[in-house]
Amino acid sequence: MATSEKQLPDWVPSGGGEGFTTEVMPGVVGGHDGLPGSGVGTNTPTRPVVKRRQLSVEDYVAGVIAGDRAILGRAITLVESNNPEHAAIAREVLKSLQPRTGGAVRVGITGVPGAGKSTFIESLGTWLCGQGHKVAVLAVDPSSTRTGGSILGDKTRMEQLSRLDTAFIRPSPSGGTLGGVARKSRETLLLCEAAGFDVVLVETVGVGQSEVTVRSMVDFFLLILIAGAGDELQGIKKGVIELADMILVNKADGDNLPRANAARAEYERVLHYLRPATEGWQTHAHTVSALTGEGVPEAWAVVQKFAETMKISGQFTTRRHSQDVAWLHALIEEALRQRFRQHPTVQALLPGLETAVMQGEIAASLAVEQLFAQVDDTLLRSGKAQT
Ligand code: GDP
Repeated sequence: MATSEKQLPDWVPSGGGEGFTTEVMPGVVGGHDGLPGSGVGTNTPTRPVVKRRQLSVEDYVAGVIAGDRAILGRAITLVESNNPEHAAIAREVLKSLQPRTGGAVRVGITGVPGAGKSTFIESLGTWLCGQGHKVAVLAVDPSSTRTGGSILGDKTRMEQLSRLDTAFIRPSPSGGTLGGVARKSRETLLLCEAAGFDVVLVETVGVGQSEVTVRSMVDFFLLILIAGAGDELQGIKKGVIELADMILVNKADGDNLPRANAARAEYERVLHYLRPATEGWQTHAHTVSALTGEGVPEAWAVVQKFAETMKISGQFTTRRHSQDVAWLHALIEEALRQRFRQHPTVQALLPGLETAVMQGEIAASLAVEQLFAQVDDTLLRSGKAQT
């Protein structure tokens, strides 16, 4: 998208241009992260675009360390950018901040739309802030890429939490593959830790691959379910239950209480037969009412108990290290894919090979061989491509 064709929102860093992600899904009232508000559900700026001072790497680093929310917001915008120049600055910023990362408890939260994720996060986050915590809420929602709309962002969410000084809410980055969204969210998580947030909640929808991705970036994974949603396990695959360190049956209030209790007992039975998500930890089902707040402190006590137990056993650190290594591999694959697609030889030859394969003139495997024979090792040295 050329910058001249469209007026850019004012959260775009100065110099923002080609390749920069200029769409953020709607859903959170602007101003929550120190960025000027641009209204709900619109990318149209309400005020004229003012060119802002470009920040140096040092400015970003100092601002994030000082917990400056406006600069944190801009640093996140930087890591979300697809512009290679921004990516280079983002790498420097992340490198400098690396020693200050790792200090938060990272909690993934999933559940089908309507299960009450945002109500729960609002309730838990507000309670945690009241307990003196600093809470960052991130979202991983690749649906905005696939469908043009976002499952997590179609309404104003977490209004109360977003008004607190000690909370920071960032919607899902948009554009690109799940891998791209995951990279941006993971780096955002690190920035939030460097800014002093000691609890990071990463929300995702329980309807695809994204929960596996989120599981790979958090310490504790929480699955929110509701009673009596009809079909067995609410379309949540057994695989997702196997990722969970805790199941919360939400909406355990009013007339729904007996059904919630029955569902909890049912999930508890299911869990009994499954392999635990984390070695040395037995996953249990609990009830909660995100609406009334009943059971929310108890749910957090489970997270704390988990962190304590896992730190004593060493599993906490072991998991983080293996997540880092898995992350390294994911980044290598992402970088290779990107460089491959941008390689001039690939761009020149691939369309012809696609046609040849489509017309049955050449087998796909042979086409791959031909292509790779032409793409020499400049693919690996190519410094231009950025993820
Ligand atoms: P999400 O799509 O998973 O984020 O779900 P929401 O948080 O938007 O909740 C969906 C609907 O369920 C909303 O109308 C909420 O008010 C309602 N809801 C959420 N939690 C509770 C709860 O604990 N009890 C009751 N009765 N309703 C709830």
